[in-house]
Amino acid sequence: MAREEVIMQLDNVSRTFMMGEVTVHALKESSLDIFKGELLVILGPSGSGKSTLLNLVGGMDRPTTGRISFKNTELTGASDRALTNFRRNSVGFVFQFFNLISDLTALENVALAAELVADALPVEKALRDVGLDDRLNHFPAQLSGGEQQRVSIARAIVKQPSLVLCDEPTGALDYTTGKVVLKLLDDISHKQGRTVIIVTHNTPIAGMADRVIRMRSGRIIEITENENPLSPERVEW
Ligand code: ADP
Ligand code: MG
Repeated sequence: MAREEVIMQLDNVSRTFMMGEVTVHALKESSLDIFKGELLVILGPSGSGKSTLLNLVGGMDRPTTGRISFKNTELTGASDRALTNFRRNSVGFVFQFFNLISDLTALENVALAAELVADALPVEKALRDVGLDDRLNHFPAQLSGGEQQRVSIARAIVKQPSLVLCDEPTGALDYTTGKVVLKLLDDISHKQGRTVIIVTHNTPIAGMADRVIRMRSGRIIEITENENPLSPERVEW
């Protein structure tokens, strides 16, 4: 793919957590350019810093040292309000366990996100795009895991974000359902031109990425490019 526009830059970013007397070095001196429209897969064992990195990229957390910028605007020293606006307008999150609000319907869950931004998609269109136009008035408990994850993808894309950040999006799904979710995420990147970052410990998913980042012990140890990413249908695990 053409990698023309860097939308996010991490420059020597570290994140440490103080746990009583112990300092946990969750992310160590990591630098990364993230491109517009790319599909990035982050691989690494449990505890290697994947979620820490994703949360920093999404403005859910701030680095201990180093700098992060989005579209040439520095986020590191930004006010809480500016960081909240970045998260609202530019980031959609997809979590392993969906994180839907249980007493709101599918439509209401997506509508809540749409209300946060000025230029949201019509809510029903976002749900139609994930194939759920016949489930609008269902509550999360009335939906399968795969359907709940599709609602959460609709909730992310209704805001038309530049970045769609997914932490183990297929981790709670069976194989077939996981593939449906991966196909949606692939289209969001390769058809809609949004940057999609998928954190997973499921190595074969890396086959569909434009670039693969491998992490170990809080460090980015390798970045590889796929000249010809696989279609999600051809990813097997
Ligand atoms: P991964 O997502 O790759 O499993 P994480 O980024 O969640 O790894 O965690 C990296 C390391 O940082 C782990 O040792 C974890 O225990 C630690 N860590 C993550 N978040 C916190 C936190 N909020 N407080 C203390 N330690 C944390
Ligand atoms: Mg994690």
